[in-house]
Amino acid sequence: MARALYIHWPFCLAKCPYCDFNSHVRDSVDHAAWETALLADLRHEAELAGGEQLDSIFFGGGTPSLMPPALVARLLNEAEQLWGFAPGIEITLEGNPSSVEAANYTDLAAAGVNRASLGLQALDDQTLRFLGRLHDASEGLKAVETAQNVFDRSRST
Ligand code: SF4
Repeated sequence: MARALYIHWPFCLAKCPYCDFNSHVRDSVDHAAWETALLADLRHEAELAGGEQLDSIFFGGGTPSLMPPALVARLLNEAEQLWGFAPGIEITLEGNPSSVEAANYTDLAAAGVNRASLGLQALDDQTLRFLGRLHDASEGLKAVETAQNVFDRSRST
């Protein structure tokens, strides 16, 4: 039975030209509707694959660091009730290292996230522009530093 849970958040601020992930740019996102749908999906998955405590949860995307922290907290609370959390569970959230998103890190950590996976991609501004990234190298490094201070475990890619 499942010991790992993946939650997908398919929205980004911009579409990077190299990206073939399930990610979309929208002017607005109906967070309440997404909360209802994601909670229903969690309950369905727990019926199919319940019975063991989770030792890993991964929020991927898209850009889940854009998720409202209250929504992340709600999903984690539901997952804990449905499966239970194993001691030392790793709860990772993918994000882009922009200052806008870094401002959310503290609240995401308070919601239960303990690990960030940041798409830094490069430390060269020209390369980052070529890749269509919205952050520059300096902003990216600051976001990594913030993540290292806020989350128990972090890595950059
Ligand atoms: S931020 Fe990530 S998921 Fe979003 S478009 Fe860029 S590469 Fe794709």
